[in-house]
Amino acid sequence: MTSESAVCKNHPDSFCYVCGEYVSAAFKKPISEVHKKAYLAYFGFGICDQNKQWVPHFLCKNCHLGLLKWFNDCGGGLNFAKPLIWREPHDHNVDCYFCLTRIDGATGKVEYANVMSVTQPVANRTPVNTQPISYSAPSPVRVKYIETHLILPNELDLLISGLNLSERSAEILVKTFQEWKILAPFPGFHRRKVAQVM
Ligand SMILES: [Zn+2]
Ligand SMILES: [Zn+2]
Repeated sequence: MTSESAVCKNHPDSFCYVCGEYVSAAFKKPISEVHKKAYLAYFGFGICDQNKQWVPHFLCKNCHLGLLKWFNDCGGGLNFAKPLIWREPHDHNVDCYFCLTRIDGATGKVEYANVMSVTQPVANRTPVNTQPISYSAPSPVRVKYIETHLILPNELDLLISGLNLSERSAEILVKTFQEWKILAPFPGFHRRKVAQVM
């Protein structure tokens, strides 16, 4: 649909590549190399199809700040574990997210299309683990399922630095959490601080 993308009702670049939300021109950030690195570290797969017109080439302010702060060990993070996944739409009237998402220019209300060409973001807090945890780490995201909370990479970072653990103690803590299966399955565990103890 590459050559036809220009006729989409809403331009693909009016949406955030990461979360798929409509973003006004004043707040959108063009995807940069550091965004690509942070996205890859956070989700475990890269930003792709940037040479295509049927994906956005921008990030919204929340995703921009969330990813970069997280990447720089300054908190941050996103409130979804998997980003919106883009696939090439085939028909503007049937499966085109950009054409079928309705934006009310007067109220700013946006009604997002649920179409085959996109997979919606997956929330962070999925109740897959029934084991409660005994501490409450500060979290930048809204907690929906406290009793089944999986520890996110940035929360683990905060816990390790907050407890001022030695490298050996941190290693034991991480190993224990891994055995208990209470670490969110994020590829971000391979980075810096946590990577040092794994
Ligand atoms: Zn379209
Ligand atoms: Zn976004």
